[in-house]
Amino acid sequence: KPVTHSDSVVVIGLGRFGGAVAESLMRLGHEVLAIDTNAELVQKWADRLTHVVQADATDSDAMRQLGLNHIEHAVVSIGSDIEASVLTVLALEELGVPDIWAKATGTRHGLILERTGAHHVVHPEAAMGERVAHLVTGKMMDFL
Ligand code: ATP
Repeated sequence: KPVTHSDSVVVIGLGRFGGAVAESLMRLGHEVLAIDTNAELVQKWADRLTHVVQADATDSDAMRQLGLNHIEHAVVSIGSDIEASVLTVLALEELGVPDIWAKATGTRHGLILERTGAHHVVHPEAAMGERVAHLVTGKMMDFL
């Protein structure tokens, strides 16, 4: 695979969103560490990413032991468990990760993530809905 950047990224949560983020980052030549509590998902992704670890990302001591205090970018892809999502962002913020991205399931969830320390909050359904509307009307502004 072509290596264009040496920046490493941690992706937390290997659901549909996190899996797509992790896979795309690998394709773009980044080193990707992924963390998920689910053993089956860890096994599924083990040989597709740089490192895949089964751990609870809300546990800041465990995250420090994995070296996350030295990582530049984090993408928190936990959706339905809002508490886990928020506690993970808090742990990353406490470890001093300088670029934290987090997925929100709604506006209020996004607001909490911002206040907890996320630098970028993404709303995948809202963003994709908006994009589809542009595509349907033939504006295709994303591709200009
Ligand atoms: P999708 O991206 O598929 O829409 P989702 O929004 O439903 O996913 P979840 O299923 O809640 O998101 O979480 C995504 C992944 O995050 C799951 O694989 C889950 O095992 C993992 N996860 C949840 N809590 C933790 C945690 N505390 N530490 C690590 N991983 C976690």
